[in-house]
Amino acid sequence: MKDNTHALDPAKFRDPVRTAKGEPRASVALNTPQTLWFNTGTLCNIECANCYILSSPKNDALVYITQAEVIDYLDQLQTRQWGVREIAFTGGEPYMNPEMNAMTRAALERGYDVLVLTNAMRPMMRKSVRDGLAALHADFPGKLTLRISVDHHSQEMHDVERGKGAFAKTITGMEWLRDAGVAMAVAGRTIWGETEEQSRAGYAALFARHGFAIDAMNPAQTVLFPEMDDSVDVPEITTACWNILNISPDAMMCASSRMVVKRKGADRPAVLACTLLPYAPEFELGETLEQAERDVSLNHPHCAKFCVLGGASCSG
Ligand code: SF4
Ligand code: SF4
Repeated sequence: MKDNTHALDPAKFRDPVRTAKGEPRASVALNTPQTLWFNTGTLCNIECANCYILSSPKNDALVYITQAEVIDYLDQLQTRQWGVREIAFTGGEPYMNPEMNAMTRAALERGYDVLVLTNAMRPMMRKSVRDGLAALHADFPGKLTLRISVDHHSQEMHDVERGKGAFAKTITGMEWLRDAGVAMAVAGRTIWGETEEQSRAGYAALFARHGFAIDAMNPAQTVLFPEMDDSVDVPEITTACWNILNISPDAMMCASSRMVVKRKGADRPAVLACTLLPYAPEFELGETLEQAERDVSLNHPHCAKFCVLGGASCSG
């Protein structure tokens, strides 16, 4: 059996066209645009042990995006006729951004569903933000969903990841959202040595205790993410992998979405291939949506590990 636990081979993931073995590297076309993501900025009110984007109260590598910048991309969406269904916002903590509710409104006014990823803690619970959320829900009922990060269904494990007292604050935020009638989903992690079944049962019990209308068995409403460990070796993805694994390139996130970010010091935002690689320069496709329509070469270990293989193996 192949040992995949050794360090990443430095010869891999170097050439966007060929793998280390000289085989043609797989790429993905933007065939089914569904979601345009905006990163609202990397600042966060807390610093989690395993934040994939390294957010913290000090990390402003990605600065606050503005309502005017978001509107410019919404205009581009119309011009380019991508036909996306959803506008999604992630951070950092999106409710640190002072224009978060204004940006949400701009997207809702154009008819999109809006998804906001949040920890539902203090930034969201400030009165001005709560008032804004209540108004958005009243004006656009059923169109706004907040996806709350609940790393584990127990207070003990969640707080190991997020700091003492974090779980209680998030639950308070979720209770407010419940009472306000704002739709919720949850993002959890699968790092706890539980089976998926155990994990979903734990979330179901938590939701039942608090009367949260979230389906723990539905992977779209309770999303469980694996850990991103850059240190382990993974095979490269060749064009032959799609057939071997019987996976369609259209199932990859970069076939259906892009993410707009604003880097510190940059004059304008940039468009990235997906939400998973915010700091990899090769996955920055340009400043405009038109430039971001080109194919994405799967030249990063994340592409193999999280998107294509999901634990399977087809080469290397
Ligand atoms: S709350 Fe989210 S964005 Fe903030 S540090 Fe934790 S994982 Fe990162
Ligand atoms: S990590 Fe790679 S395969 Fe996955 S969505 Fe991003 S660019 Fe596509």
